[in-house]
Amino acid sequence: MVRVRFAPSPTGHLHIGGARTAIFNWLFARHNKGKFILRIEDTDRSRSTEESIREILEAMRWLGLDWDEGPYRQTERMEIYRREAERLIREGKAYYCYCTPEELEVIREEMKKRCGVPKYDGRCRNRKEPREGVRPVIRFKVDTEGETVFHDLIKGEIRYPNSQLDDFIIVRSDGTPTYNFVVVVDDALMGITHVIRGDDHLNNTPKQIQLYRALGYEPPKFAHVPMILGPDRTKLSKRHGATSVMAYREEGYLPEALFNFLVRLGWSHGDQEIFSKEELIELFTLEAVGKSPAVFNPEKLLWLNHHYMKTYPVDKLSELLAEFLEKEGIVEDASKIDRKWLEEVVVAFRERSKTVKEMAHHCAFLFKAPESYDEDGVKKFFKPEVVPYLEAIAEEIENASQFTKEAIDEIFKRVLDRFGIKLKAVAQPVRLAITGRTVSPGLHEILLLTGKEESVRRIKKAVEFIKSLG
Ligand code: GLU
Repeated sequence: MVRVRFAPSPTGHLHIGGARTAIFNWLFARHNKGKFILRIEDTDRSRSTEESIREILEAMRWLGLDWDEGPYRQTERMEIYRREAERLIREGKAYYCYCTPEELEVIREEMKKRCGVPKYDGRCRNRKEPREGVRPVIRFKVDTEGETVFHDLIKGEIRYPNSQLDDFIIVRSDGTPTYNFVVVVDDALMGITHVIRGDDHLNNTPKQIQLYRALGYEPPKFAHVPMILGPDRTKLSKRHGATSVMAYREEGYLPEALFNFLVRLGWSHGDQEIFSKEELIELFTLEAVGKSPAVFNPEKLLWLNHHYMKTYPVDKLSELLAEFLEKEGIVEDASKIDRKWLEEVVVAFRERSKTVKEMAHHCAFLFKAPESYDEDGVKKFFKPEVVPYLEAIAEEIENASQFTKEAIDEIFKRVLDRFGIKLKAVAQPVRLAITGRTVSPGLHEILLLTGKEESVRRIKKAVEFIKSLG
């Protein structure tokens, strides 16, 4: 039975890289009909916050990453770590170290000169007596002979010279256990079969393997995922734009699009780009995760999002649009908007909107008549000769008994015939009058969505404006 975990440290947002790790673990669990466990690594109390935990859970839920167990919190498991640390001491595999920070400084300098690595020399290994006034740390007796060899499911065989290691701290002087120790205790006791994580942890693995053996636990299989680079091929960071999952939600990205995008950062299936979740569960294997770093391409994310916008269920998309209309200050209370009508808005705008936020701005004119008109548009389309055409259209609309696509066609046809002009002569002036802009969905759509009375009002207002130009 496969059991994997995602083990975020709640010291900030859920980062794009962390989300990808979570997704790989989740897909691996679902593909193998195993369990996905969520564990909050909050032993570093000075850096962990409740706010961060809330945000991580919210981001995971938004991405659709449901967990089968947890969230476990390491701060609720302190008793277990204490017991395990004491066991190691009892068995002579760990010891109290009373060295002061100043002493450690000197020792590291010396060791650096002696063997090139600024490490602890293990001098407290044989100490029998406590030291007055010093609260000890607990160090693990590391085997510095030979090498640690393990098979990484992504990187292949890894050989690590143990001479690089030193007796590292497993419990700090304030009694809190350290990451390398608790991660081993938890992964072992939680029956984790595969540790899938970022390759920034590769150097921790030899230490952890030694701890597994000392504690008498079987090490899991390891899979270290190459990191994510920014478009300029340096480590992905804030410089490259938003790096937190929630920032993408705020920008109007769809969770399915971000999910699809993140999976493709490192995993591939031929040159296919678009995958449903069901397909991913079916196809995902660690063998198909690449060995080299993946490059984050924001344009591709935008492209994928646009794809998902076009194929998203209309009712869901209109709910999101309502949310963004409010958030962007376009309407005050989106609950007042008729949902059937809003779904028509979605259908009219989804083709031309790459994000929900963009869609909200594209359709903003429906909620508020233009206060000004696009300048180039005014020069090109608001000429004195269009005044009678616009007046005629406004009048026809006003007198129409029905306001449907067919009725609008008829109205335009009659006006064009009357003046002997082509649609081109009135289409852009009408568009500019209704939207204030020169690009928008089709004329029918914007007129129908704006509604009969409001359309008349806007066209008349444009007429006044053109007249005022003199
Ligand atoms: N809390 C660690 C991190 O966020 C987890 C590392 C691991 O998966 O072992 O990096």
